[in-house]
Amino acid sequence: MNIAKHLAETDRTLFSFEILPPLKGDAIDKVYDNIDPLMAFNPAYINVTYHREEAILKPVGNGLLKRKIIRKRPGTIGLCAAIQARYKVDTVPHLLCGGFTKEDTENALIELDFLGIKNVLALRGDSMKGQKYFTPEEDGNAFAVDLVRQIHDLNNGIYTDEELENKHATDFSIGVAGYPEKHYESPSLNIDIQYLKEKIDAGAGYIVTQMFFDNTVYFRFVKKCREAGINVPIVPGLKPLSTKRQLSIIPTMFNVDIPDELSFKILKCKSNDDVRKVGIEWTIQQSQELKEKGVPALHYYSMGRSKNIEEIAQQVFG
Ligand code: FAD
Repeated sequence: MNIAKHLAETDRTLFSFEILPPLKGDAIDKVYDNIDPLMAFNPAYINVTYHREEAILKPVGNGLLKRKIIRKRPGTIGLCAAIQARYKVDTVPHLLCGGFTKEDTENALIELDFLGIKNVLALRGDSMKGQKYFTPEEDGNAFAVDLVRQIHDLNNGIYTDEELENKHATDFSIGVAGYPEKHYESPSLNIDIQYLKEKIDAGAGYIVTQMFFDNTVYFRFVKKCREAGINVPIVPGLKPLSTKRQLSIIPTMFNVDIPDELSFKILKCKSNDDVRKVGIEWTIQQSQELKEKGVPALHYYSMGRSKNIEEIAQQVFG
């Protein structure tokens, strides 16, 4: 299924969610245990995040440390293929600029094409842990727009190696990220939206938003995008809060505001079980309003736990 086309043509709000590959060492069964209960709500597609390498310092004795590069959650492409085969649902692997040369990207896309995975979410990625600023690989893509261009090129049979004898044209549908409260590096929301438009002009067919907790923020963003000439579907991304600590972690990590009303409700909770209930109720209200306004899909960030998404989906899609 071409997800961009499906989102543009749907006459009802679709259900989708995002999962993480398991931590290295964990079996795939845990992922299936999380997906199984959500299949009852007929997801249109499932996104799988990509986790780039990180540098850690390992003690090697005598107080010395050795820098080591590790990947905690490998397996995005394999997991997408396994999910597609098991559940017959489309998967959307996230693909990053960070850590990839253009040739690595091309090879990953060839692998996806062979596996019958026809959708990708094209992202720049963040700086590697321990690095202050994002640095692309030498001969890598510097911004998500460059990655979109590369995928679009491959869809037109343009490979990095111009000498190739055969040049099969792929058929990827490309999604990109959008930030209703602006990307943390961007000087302003308007400038961020200009760069977002470049991603669409380069060949992306839909936008998935960063999480937000106040629907007016999403409606304002959509209005601004439309005024800027962005006409593709804009899928709202939602995350139910489940712990008190997230009140400070989420704004720091994702540059998003948590409305006073929700913050006060969470601060009053006696346990994280109570926070979970507040988070679920809040997300149901957000979802119902967005659905009434006719959004093309509701996309839930599960962060590896599906119980709360299941309770929300039961109310919104059950
Ligand atoms: P870009 O679109 O490249 O934008 C990055 C910054 O550069 C912005 O401030 C933008 O305004 C600016 N900019 C864009 N183009 C230009 C240009 N041509 N010149 C100058 N400035 C420019 N991260 C992961 O590591 N793995 C994941 O699986 C993952 N999934 C995500 C899913 C969603 C839905 C979202 C919203 C984010 C996800 N992220 C993920 C996080 C994402 O990688 C980071 O937010 C990253 O910092 C920016 O990625 P981007 O694709 O939005 O970058």
